Amino acid sequence: MNIAVAKGDGIGPEIMDAVLKIFVAGKVPLEYEFVDMGKWVFDKGFSNGMTPEAKDTIERLGILFKGPMETPKGKGVKSVNVTARKTWNTYANKRVFQTLHGVDTVFSKAGIPIDVTIVRENIEDTYGGVEHMLTQDVALSRRFITRPGSLQVIKYAFEMASKKNAKRITCGHKSNIMKITDGLFLDCFYEVAKEYPHLKADDVIVDDLCMKLVTRPDLFDVVVLTNLQGDIVSDLCAGLVGGLGFAPSGNIGDHICIFEAVHGTAPDIAGKNIANPTALLLSGIAMLRHLGLMENAAIIENALLYTLESGVHTGDFGDKNTPSANTTQFADAVIANF
Ligand code: NAD
Repeated sequence: MNIAVAKGDGIGPEIMDAVLKIFVAGKVPLEYEFVDMGKWVFDKGFSNGMTPEAKDTIERLGILFKGPMETPKGKGVKSVNVTARKTWNTYANKRVFQTLHGVDTVFSKAGIPIDVTIVRENIEDTYGGVEHMLTQDVALSRRFITRPGSLQVIKYAFEMASKKNAKRITCGHKSNIMKITDGLFLDCFYEVAKEYPHLKADDVIVDDLCMKLVTRPDLFDVVVLTNLQGDIVSDLCAGLVGGLGFAPSGNIGDHICIFEAVHGTAPDIAGKNIANPTALLLSGIAMLRHLGLMENAAIIENALLYTLESGVHTGDFGDKNTPSANTTQFADAVIANF
């Protein structure tokens, strides 16, 4: 089976090389077609950050495994990531945050297990980038929330929650203030909930949700939100389980899916071979399961969990002053634990 791979910018090539090395050692039956995508492609004059060949390859293969990509600075320039999600209508962004043994957090130390899945609407909301100056002193941003767009991501969230026997599915929103836009999203949530009477469905206003997540994260299971709120709440959840180095994601569409880490290009540590490849590896493991490669996924996941549990760590977690591994050494430690 062939998949498209874009290494990305910043730490992207370093962490992607580490993950693919683990896949090769784990005898994952995939062939990789590398595509040109990212800020460096944008700099070559491709205004959407990808070459036509890259677009064709991704559309032919249906799966893109990608490293983080830098958003070019300046007005009128769109993020490559947002363009990719929109181009291929990957409407649901699934982000799983779980306690990992060996990654100390206030919750792991207190014996409170975390297993929260955020489903973020991935196409609409303020991410259309429809912004302009009304006058010299007044800036306007338009927010689009549609019924079909809301229903498709909410249906995905309920279906996924049902398959994983979730104890609860929660809608995070701000419909007390954004009565029409978030009100529509919330109405869609309860409309879909009627089709899943076996699931406990409820809603929490997003600011209260943040407070509840940082005090009792164990009370949540699946949380579905609009795009911007989902983006912010999922970084909060990354913090709960040890940081961005442990936050994987899948952008799910009906025809094309994109698997990537939640974090960005980490320009402050790029080129030093010290980035944590775990989030990209966890995203890759989710991709293997999506492709039906359950056994490969389980072997690699077990090796990763054992590696973390045995105290191997990059500089972003554990005792940050004495990292025991750089990116390459971390990958080698995972491979040694197969
Ligand atoms: P960032 O996630 O790149 O970095 C935030 C902090 O987390 C930095 O201190 C960084 O060193 C650290 N960090 C992130 N990933 C890490 C890892 N794997 N190992 C160790 N430390 C890690 O966020 P930012 O600085 O706000 O964004 C930088 C660039 O990335 C921007 O251009 C942004 O648009 C882009 N970005 C891309 C994506 C994507 O491709 N999906 C996502 C977020 C941000």
